[in-house]
Amino acid sequence: MKFGTKAIHAGLEPDSATGAIMTPIYQTSTYVQDGIGNHKGFEYSRTGNPTRHALESNLAAIENGKYGACFGSGLAAIDCVIKMLNPGDEVISTNDLYGGSYRIFKTIFEKYGIKFHFVDMLDIENISNVINDKTKLIWVETPTNPMMNIIDIEAVSKIAKSNHTLLAVDNTFATPYLQTPLDLGADIVMHSVTKYLGGHSDVVMGALVCNDDKIAEEMYRIQNSSGAVTAPMDSFLVLRGIKTLHVRLQRHCENGEKIAQWLNDHPKVDKVYWPGFETHTNHDVAKRQMRGFGGMISFTLKGNQIEEAKQIVKQTHLFSLAESLGGVESLIGHPATMTHASIPKEEREKSGVVDSLIRLSVGIEDADDLIADLDKAMS
Ligand SMILES: *Cc1c(COP(=O)(O)O)cnc(C)c1O
Repeated sequence: MKFGTKAIHAGLEPDSATGAIMTPIYQTSTYVQDGIGNHKGFEYSRTGNPTRHALESNLAAIENGKYGACFGSGLAAIDCVIKMLNPGDEVISTNDLYGGSYRIFKTIFEKYGIKFHFVDMLDIENISNVINDKTKLIWVETPTNPMMNIIDIEAVSKIAKSNHTLLAVDNTFATPYLQTPLDLGADIVMHSVTKYLGGHSDVVMGALVCNDDKIAEEMYRIQNSSGAVTAPMDSFLVLRGIKTLHVRLQRHCENGEKIAQWLNDHPKVDKVYWPGFETHTNHDVAKRQMRGFGGMISFTLKGNQIEEAKQIVKQTHLFSLAESLGGVESLIGHPATMTHASIPKEEREKSGVVDSLIRLSVGIEDADDLIADLDKAMS
């Protein structure tokens, strides 16, 4: 089955009781048993809920995986992956990383004796330099936020396999429509479902997908034991969101390309970071491992003036000033004072987050209107 068909049908059956074509919101905590242990597959909604189960099956299918698990947020999904490890284990992660992922690694798990290395994976050699017997997990985010760096998943997976360590990929920015890490050798795919999968800025949720029976057993054991599950209503909303994922992403990509080109030609713009440009670092890897380049764009201004950047993000109207990304509506943000404000200036500038960097999450409105909005704000 191809992607769009899977997005709409995989894992979903008409409701057995009523024939309802949409999976009902099973807003229930428990399930009546005919006799002790004699139930219809569901006992208690932390362990399993039919609406969540339908979503988990659907997500597994679109990521070309066997097993899916949904959590209360993207960070709760990451929490589950790290809980598969033991004290003394080491993790190698991309250095250009979602801030919340860095925070949970450093401030939650380091004190339980797990060690984290942050390396620049644009040069794969940097992984080989720190990998050792204790390395149990490699954590990759690609494209990265906000610099849109592209990490070669297949190349990293070769290192992971030859060193018997797990590879997990945060696929939030690409979505399974554009990139399926399990096909490229990853063991676990992680999502902030909050972003493109939900797609309508109305749900906070996370998910994991894997293929291996043993990893799945651990994943479900931790999901049930730690209990950071997602609600039936939210599961329903995301099931609805995923039905249009492919159509939305096509438009995100089209709009992304038009706006990236327009910015590239703008006299006030210095650099545009969008993996679709041939000049983008690792464009060839993006072309190989992604089926499109998405609607996330960052750019800097000539002269690198922070005040000018702050004025621009304040003056757009269709692009709303907000954190988050991946919704149908366009968002604009200023990483240096928003998402990356807690990182010292010298540190953030090393990874490219300079004062004038502006990040766009290009929505699915009409591109001409979006361009007119940016044009007005920038003049
Ligand atoms: C938002 C985000 C997360 C965290 O997900 P939440 O749903 O906000 O907990 C993790 N990784 C990336 C790349 C994100 O954009």
